[in-house]
Amino acid sequence: MTHLEAHETVTSYTTAETLLGRWRTHQRGPLPDAVAELAGALTDERVYVAYQPIVRLSDGQVAAVEALIRLDDPANDELSTPLKLIAVAEEHGLIEVVGRYVMERTCRQLAAWRTALPDLQAHVNVSPTELRDARYVEEIAGLLATSALPPDALVVEVTESAALDRESNAKSVLVGLANTGIVIALDDFGTGFASLDLLADTPARIVKLDRSFVAALGETETANRSRAVIMQAAIGMARSLGLQLVGEGVEEIGQARALLSWGCDFGQGFLYGRPTRPEVIDPAAWHVLPKQTTALLLGADTLTPEAVDVGISLAGVLSATDPDGGDVRAAAISAASTISAVLGASRERADTAGMLASIVDLDVKLERFGIDLRTLRPSLAELRTRLSITPVIGRNTSAGAIARTAWALAQSRARGDAAPDPALLAAHPDPDVDRELHTRVEEWWHNTAHVPSVRNVLLTLEERLRSRGDANERLRSLVGLARAIGSDGDLLDVLEVTAGEAIHAVRAASLSIVQLHDDGRTFQVLVNVGDLADWEKPRPADEIYTPDDLPVSTTNLLNRSMHIEVLGHPEGNQADQDLLRSLGKDSAAYVPLFIDGDLWGAMFVSTAPGTPVFTLADGPFLSAVASFVSVAIGRAEQVGRLRREVLQDALTDLPNRRYLEEAFVDDTLLATATSPVCFAVLHVHGVRLLNDTLGYAAGDAELLRTADLLRPLGADASTMLAGRLSGSDFYIVARRTREELRVVLEELAVAYAADAPELAALYIGGCELVEPTELVSAIDCAIAASTVARDRGVAIVDDSD
Ligand code: C2E
Ligand code: MG
Ligand code: MG
Repeated sequence: MTHLEAHETVTSYTTAETLLGRWRTHQRGPLPDAVAELAGALTDERVYVAYQPIVRLSDGQVAAVEALIRLDDPANDELSTPLKLIAVAEEHGLIEVVGRYVMERTCRQLAAWRTALPDLQAHVNVSPTELRDARYVEEIAGLLATSALPPDALVVEVTESAALDRESNAKSVLVGLANTGIVIALDDFGTGFASLDLLADTPARIVKLDRSFVAALGETETANRSRAVIMQAAIGMARSLGLQLVGEGVEEIGQARALLSWGCDFGQGFLYGRPTRPEVIDPAAWHVLPKQTTALLLGADTLTPEAVDVGISLAGVLSATDPDGGDVRAAAISAASTISAVLGASRERADTAGMLASIVDLDVKLERFGIDLRTLRPSLAELRTRLSITPVIGRNTSAGAIARTAWALAQSRARGDAAPDPALLAAHPDPDVDRELHTRVEEWWHNTAHVPSVRNVLLTLEERLRSRGDANERLRSLVGLARAIGSDGDLLDVLEVTAGEAIHAVRAASLSIVQLHDDGRTFQVLVNVGDLADWEKPRPADEIYTPDDLPVSTTNLLNRSMHIEVLGHPEGNQADQDLLRSLGKDSAAYVPLFIDGDLWGAMFVSTAPGTPVFTLADGPFLSAVASFVSVAIGRAEQVGRLRREVLQDALTDLPNRRYLEEAFVDDTLLATATSPVCFAVLHVHGVRLLNDTLGYAAGDAELLRTADLLRPLGADASTMLAGRLSGSDFYIVARRTREELRVVLEELAVAYAADAPELAALYIGGCELVEPTELVSAIDCAIAASTVARDRGVAIVDDSD
């Protein structure tokens, strides 16, 4: 490869001849057509820069543009797409020239647009080769200065490979750029797990989620769904680090909604606009996207997730401008959750009520901010409608009514009123609910224990996030977690690897993964890792917790929320405090684990005495780690399930025919020994009769009963296999002599008969010795024979007789 002088800007090359002259001094052989065309196109301006909007998802505002190179009418196929063009430039040493060309034009264009849109930023793609030049930083800074642009107007996009290029000094150049105030973005993020590591290693402040991930949103296919889950986890993590996220390739409104609801701030894609020539862009019209797009995104009929999102950001803004630091707002949220609990509201409604409670005074506030209420976007109008409902729980228990009541209660308590206004809670139609409501609200009223204010929580969180050093190390552990996701194996093995990685990520003393039983209330500990108490076992058989043992923490988990317990905290609850004491730990967090949106179990983490205890501020990071753990579990379960589905009979869970043919014969018999094996076939007679007379459940029950008798025979897979072929036919394959198998079969016949319903009977055939390669066809023949034998009423058929 050859290079033109990197520090010369494109303006130094006035003609194609000069460019090519440069090219010739470094390169022998004939001039490739593509290079000639590219050089010509650069000098006669057939190369231009197109711009694509990057949009804030919450309100549709264009926050930035991405500069994308374009060539008019490429004659040469090697230049037919931007990616190909860049590759030609890279290969033939023209990339610096191309890079400067785009950078210079973009700076000029951006400066022009910023007179109308002062905050507009431009993203420029930079190739790894350009970052090899130590003078790059100085040069870009010079270009910015020439266009009178502040450094943070420019966002340099680099791909993972560029940032990973260990041989070059790419990283120090990136750090240099960041130090001058230029923003770094990681492009095409998510295409490999190396990227998580990278987040910690680059000075990136923006992460652009690769198009392939965005495309996977809303897909139902399993492979894509797990991609979506991984992306969700990555978003959670990047957010907990305070990074800004841009979803690439947003083509459909549904993708935008999903991104927004997961916490991705910005979107880019054909939905918002294709890369366009600057001449046809009118920045004034471009500023706010067509109403249609925004309106669609925000919805109008019900309280959409987007409206809730808008509400939550509003709550943040409002509490930050509250004279009392948001204390009343925080109290209103807690009152709303108390009332919701009494009324048995669903989790979503309780959340909605809590959020609405914190923004009940929306109108007053917005007016004070000088915002014209008539111009409210649909989502805000939606919020207002909900809030216009009168308080007074009892007659109306909608989220809006709960919110208003909660707000009224919180304000009245803050004013110093002696007791809750009984009129607010008057007469719920159900006297029990009514009584409970009064009692719980009384309790809430007098519980002046410290409620963390919305603002304080936000501030602490921000403080933590600022210490990136800490975050870096945590991120590295997450990479390990990601690897655990990729590891194959039995669920418990995967859990152990995952737990081992997660414990580093959260810097806990011990970590347990706990599964929720089907009964919906029992949590069983599957693995314990880290610094364990004497009585704890790594894979306990019978360590379970229910709301009877741990009323507060398990109930919180069942309500899908995290629970944090700190030893000696005045608000601590007895059972969880006792547990902490017996574990010898200072604090614990119970973090719910969700798989496909359902509560699967929990991650229990604890801290050792002398180390920082968990606080609410750890919440987002713990949730991010938990989503990784959930992905690992989901994947292990899925792999296990698929493996089972393919090789296991759905009704009885016994190995199926396919297992016999593929796994057993090929992997076990032929792989380990070629000596003959003995087999038997079993036919449960009367199943159809049972189905016809007593219903399918009776037929199934008889097959299950038979399967249960066969199951223990296959316990040692190396000597005997018992499975179901199909319908009423089962098989046994044994590495035993015929005499030994006969004994087994006779015992089986007796055990079967002891409990058999009147209509059913077991017929057994086979008991032959065959070569492994003949096993499957011999079994088929024996099934046919046993059907004949059945008609003759023979119980055990031994062909040698
Ligand atoms: P990129 O940086 O990831 O740019 C985004 C690409 O996605 C662009 O392709 C854009 O046209 C395309 N795109 C945007 N929205 C959508 C959408 O909704 N659906 C689909 N299917 N595609 C969408 P383009 O312009 O072909 O560029 C391809 C790549 O070439 C860029 O990927 C970037 O890596 C590189 N590139 C483009 N211009 C430059 C440049 O000036 N310098 C360097 N070094 N690389 C460039
Ligand atoms: Mg890009
Ligand atoms: Mg990209």
